[in-house]
Amino acid sequence: MIKFLDLLKVNQQYEKEIKVAMNQVFDSGWYIQGEAVKRFEQNYADFCGTKHCIGVANGLDALILIIRAYKELGVFNEGDEIIVPSNTYIASILAISENNLIPVLVEPDEKTFNLNPARIEEHITPKTKAILPVHLYGQLCDMQAINAIAQKHNLKVIEDAAQSHGAVSKDGRKSGNLGDAAGHSFYPGKNLGALGDGGAVTTNDDELATAIRAIANYGSHKKYHNIYKGPNSRLDELQAAILDVKLNNLDKDSERRCEIATQYISGINNPKIQLPYYSNTKDHVFHLFVIRTLEREKLQEYLSNHGIQTVIHYPIPPHKQDAYLELNAWSFPISEALHNEVLSLPISPVMTENEIKIVIKVINGF
Ligand SMILES: *Cc1c(COP(=O)(O)O)cnc(C)c1O
Repeated sequence: MIKFLDLLKVNQQYEKEIKVAMNQVFDSGWYIQGEAVKRFEQNYADFCGTKHCIGVANGLDALILIIRAYKELGVFNEGDEIIVPSNTYIASILAISENNLIPVLVEPDEKTFNLNPARIEEHITPKTKAILPVHLYGQLCDMQAINAIAQKHNLKVIEDAAQSHGAVSKDGRKSGNLGDAAGHSFYPGKNLGALGDGGAVTTNDDELATAIRAIANYGSHKKYHNIYKGPNSRLDELQAAILDVKLNNLDKDSERRCEIATQYISGINNPKIQLPYYSNTKDHVFHLFVIRTLEREKLQEYLSNHGIQTVIHYPIPPHKQDAYLELNAWSFPISEALHNEVLSLPISPVMTENEIKIVIKVINGF
């Protein structure tokens, strides 16, 4: 069977180095906010090209903490609005609601499935304080256009970079360094994945970085001195040590993902299937390879019968979720169609040439 994602095989590539790193943490006798976190934060900031990286407990917390810090700094107030894509993983939207701000959903571009800059301005009101673009499936949003709108209307730009580790924009800047602050996830299945939960915020804003570091640590910048009513959301030493090993191999892994995507794009020629848009630049790291078809259920069953695992990202749009009853009556036709028609094919750095060929052949036979 061709698995959608063989996580064990992914991590076995670096088994020796990961185990050495884990042993070092064990032997250090220091398990929270020690040398391993410090080292990874520095390395990941360097990788993204940002001044700061703050390790946190997970990707959702990274986004929640950015918005919370802007509230503490007096930039956002409860009831303010943040523009966010209507087709995203729900965490992008949860981070806004969690802070008692209002998510304003905007439809995607039909070509890239990413937030459509042309639709943003019609949603800006006096309450709008930020735009939260999501680099969905690993493909960067049109950040030049989004940043221009933000500048014109004096809005913050918060990237959801949970799926786009290492993607590079046309002007040479990395995912996580394309707005005012970015939330990253190191959930095991992400392109840079830990062996458990993990996340980070990157930013060039000194004041924001200082606030986030304190808020995430019970609101404390100095032991037993609390300036905010903060949660405990820290990246732990063990995950940081593991992530450092995997960060060293991330660019190589991303290249492999792009090679597989290129093979899929040139090999799959079934007229029932719409392939993802790919500009053949480094602005897409193919966290997911997502096709679109009007016969999704039939195709998924057919692939499963031929031993090919697929997953749907995502089956229910956020505005149709029970958690968002207040949004249920809204209509976002592009998002709704996408949620009915998308299907993610297997893609990972450990897929073999033979597996890629089989997937192409089987799909063309549908
Ligand atoms: C995974 C993901 C998150 C949340 O990250 P966690 O580490 O799972 O909390 C947020 N946004 C997007 C787009 C994601 O894919």
